Amino acid sequence: VGGVSNADSHEVAIVGGGISGLSIAWHLAARIDGGICVYDGAGIGSGATAIQPGGVRQQWATRLTSAMSREAYSFYSDVDALLEPAVSPGLTACGYLFVAEDEQELRELADRVAMHNELGIPSRMLDADQAAAIVPGLDPSPILGGSWCDQDGYFDRPQAVVAGFAASCERRGVGFETTDVTRLERDGDGWRLTLAGGAHRHASCVVLAASHRGLELLQPLAVELPIGSEARYLFYSDPIRERLLEPLVVIPKRHFAAKQLADGSVLASDLDAVGDPRADKSGWHTHIRESITEFVPVLEYVSFPVMVEGFYDVTPDHQPVLGPIDGQDGLWIAAGMNGRGFMLAPVIGRMIADGIAMRTFDATLTRLRPSRFAENDLVPEQQVV
Ligand SMILES: Cc1cc2nc3c(=O)[nH]c(=O)nc-3n(C[C@H](O)[C@H](O)[C@H](O)COP(=O)(O)OP(=O)(O)OC[C@H]3O[C@@H](n4cnc5c(N)ncnc54)[C@H](O)[C@@H]3O)c2cc1C
Repeated sequence: VGGVSNADSHEVAIVGGGISGLSIAWHLAARIDGGICVYDGAGIGSGATAIQPGGVRQQWATRLTSAMSREAYSFYSDVDALLEPAVSPGLTACGYLFVAEDEQELRELADRVAMHNELGIPSRMLDADQAAAIVPGLDPSPILGGSWCDQDGYFDRPQAVVAGFAASCERRGVGFETTDVTRLERDGDGWRLTLAGGAHRHASCVVLAASHRGLELLQPLAVELPIGSEARYLFYSDPIRERLLEPLVVIPKRHFAAKQLADGSVLASDLDAVGDPRADKSGWHTHIRESITEFVPVLEYVSFPVMVEGFYDVTPDHQPVLGPIDGQDGLWIAAGMNGRGFMLAPVIGRMIADGIAMRTFDATLTRLRPSRFAENDLVPEQQVV
């Protein structure tokens, strides 16, 4: 990649201005001399990126995801210096506790902690009383213990990260157009993009960072990838002045997680909430209420009047799809974030930018290549929330 570009012709066109597209653009702009444009029909950061509450963790089941999250955590620890955002996003290391209710869960978590520690991730195992000491409000009686990482945390202002990436991209000369890309076709040794208004652009390289919606552009090219879309719901209380639950507590077997955010509101998730929100919402509330009563009774009198719906872009192995698409020279994808695209954006941006600008293929990028599904070479991640 290299050379001149003008408003109608780019070196790299990025379709999708969520956190993935922005991070890719930001990393690319440090590697190539101009010619990068981000297209988003709904505006910057308007997809799942607008919904996510800013959770950043390093505790995962696979070495691959843990190593990615370690690199991303290092970026985010230095986010003020790297992005110079107008408002500091404030990464608060509140800690994440994954609770084990039985011996098998405890053993699995312990194996993962050993793997994390090899990677430099400071997670550790806690027995039930230690967990309750670290997480006031947790009832130790129904649990055996859990894994804990005190570096895991939440951004107090996650949208300040998104705005920080966008503004820093602009300062680096990245262009933005608020329009959908409706069609992609081969055009010489590059790609022709058709925009929603009918105009065309040319790009030597295109990156689809458009979540599951990128499939609409791949279908006419006869490229099939198993990226689906699943609804997820977050339940929020009104802000509460008293601090009740600082760490994030995840009870995996109950598909339940809860945490009090920086503004005082308590966030609770029924991670298994599937169905029609109008018909099933009260059942999801009941599930949350039962989990609270059993595990975190400190939240017993908190109500959750606000429900927010968003979508995970999901894949069969719960891992992102990253890299060049076979048989489509110069067409790349970064999608299928499976609920962790915000926290992994720095490393995904770095890997894709290295691949495009320097032809340097990180081993992780190769592992998460789009062709792994057809080759049945999956790399399943189990510690999904
Ligand atoms: C309820 C919920 C909670 C979450 N919590 C967390 C969390 O705590 N931590 C975390 O790391 N992640 C979390 N996530 C996941 C995270 O939000 C996503 O993985 C991440 O935002 C994905 O970013 P993205 O840029 O890949 O996709 P998106 O943010 O969805 O962006 C894709 C963009 O592409 C644009 N687009 C699509 N098609 C076209 C087209 N044809 N032309 C132009 N533009 C197009 C869309 O308008 C959109 O803006 C959560 C998600 C949900 C739903």
